[in-house]
Amino acid sequence: MPVQEPPLRRLCTDCGLSRTAQPQRCGQACQFIRPDYPRMERQVHGRPRDENAGGKAPGDELHFGPLQAMWQARLRRPLDGAQWTGITTRLAERLLESGAVDAVICMGPHPQDRWRPQPVVVTRPQDMAACRGMRMGYAPLLAQIEPALRQGLRRLAVIAIPCQVYPLRAIEEQLRREHGLESLHVIGLPCSDNTHTERFHDFLALLSPRPQDIRYLEFRADYQVEIRTDNGQQRLIPFLQLPLSDLPADFFPTTCRTCVDYTNALADVTVGYMGGRGEQWVLVRNQRGQQLLDLLGDEVLLTPPSSAGQRAGAVRGFLANLQRAAGGLPTRRMPAWVRPLVAWLMPRIGPRGLEFARARVEMKALETLVHLRRDMPARVRSMVPAHVFRLARPYGLVQAPHERPAAADSPRSPSR
Ligand SMILES: Cc1cc2nc3c(=O)[nH]c(=O)nc-3n(C[C@H](O)[C@H](O)[C@H](O)COP(=O)(O)OP(=O)(O)OC[C@H]3O[C@@H](n4cnc5c(N)ncnc54)[C@H](O)[C@@H]3O)c2cc1C
Ligand code: SF4
Ligand code: SF4
Repeated sequence: MPVQEPPLRRLCTDCGLSRTAQPQRCGQACQFIRPDYPRMERQVHGRPRDENAGGKAPGDELHFGPLQAMWQARLRRPLDGAQWTGITTRLAERLLESGAVDAVICMGPHPQDRWRPQPVVVTRPQDMAACRGMRMGYAPLLAQIEPALRQGLRRLAVIAIPCQVYPLRAIEEQLRREHGLESLHVIGLPCSDNTHTERFHDFLALLSPRPQDIRYLEFRADYQVEIRTDNGQQRLIPFLQLPLSDLPADFFPTTCRTCVDYTNALADVTVGYMGGRGEQWVLVRNQRGQQLLDLLGDEVLLTPPSSAGQRAGAVRGFLANLQRAAGGLPTRRMPAWVRPLVAWLMPRIGPRGLEFARARVEMKALETLVHLRRDMPARVRSMVPAHVFRLARPYGLVQAPHERPAAADSPRSPSR
């Protein structure tokens, strides 16, 4: 469905809200303006995250958001074209097959560029297959919702990244009251290090003389990037051997360096890989999320997640690099001959499983604070939730008095 052009904003990932008939809703619904996670978590899950509840270890909700259960998971029969085994699109397919929803709104590939996301409204289960796999970039997903509701598609599922899920949840009540939304299932993906599709093509060109043949790329939990090509080749590149120092300092936009919800805390279920030790990682956040997972029955193999290694040293090293990089990419300048050795050691002695996921969430919190303080310090007070400061505190980044929100800063719902 065609949508209007968005206004220019420095911190905006074009989630689609600014292209609707009420773009002024961005002011109260945007993750980058004045998010209120405790209130939104209460609205969606019935309670805010609790540092000492849920998950396998005390403290997991501080890192991962409200949880009912957490699993290492994989489909018994991985689906062709899926990013991992295809749990995400299979959940949506099951919703359509079982008649629980009228449509799924998610990102498919653009017809002219497989790496460019394009919002699609899927009403037939068999059409979910075309949406499998990861695209790099943004596209106005939420602009599809009100037109879909107008067409009578009133029971919806949305698959989305965190900076799309926050505004979706912020307008959910209004969608129910004014636009006839009857039910909403939200399947969330964790998200970090996204960039514009054009920039991602530049990155592919550094990895291969034939970037046009690369059909799959993933940053794996064993510290390697996996690449697959159209002619069936697979290549693994250790993170430390990536050509990051050849990328421009602004390769990742400020949005993706400063966003505050890595694990998609407002989804009903989050499907990622970080805590999955080579498999997928499923975070069930509420009863609706549990019902969603139940739709997969025996198709999915679930095991309790595990954890190994110690994250503190790796996170401290990341912070030191980040501070040295002074706004550029936190690449490690080590002699070329040491890199393969360290790349071999990291998957063996570095944090693994849930400890890897905690490390990445803490790194993201540190990155948010370092970049925002440097580039847009006035935003820290309104944009950074308290839990991000709690994650950063053990590494010496402490909330300054002028970074504490005043009572008057409390946001209102856009639907009021
Ligand atoms: C930009 C990006 C960054 C990510 N970073 C992490 C990370 O750091 N850690 C982690 O654990 N997981 C991350 N993920 C999620 C991970 O890559 C897998 O998508 C997830 O584990 C689901 O795998 P699957 O096999 O179940 O997905 P599939 O069944 O293959 O389905 C993939 C789903 O992703 C959606 N999608 C694809 N591209 C986009 C996009 N650009 N924007 C919004 N939706 C999209 C598709 O619509 C589809 O529904 C990221 C995903 C994206 C899109
Ligand atoms: S709500 Fe969406 S469209 Fe509006 S400013 Fe935020 S990211 Fe951009
Ligand atoms: S990294 Fe953050 S801001 Fe960037 S696309 Fe992902 S959720 Fe959105």
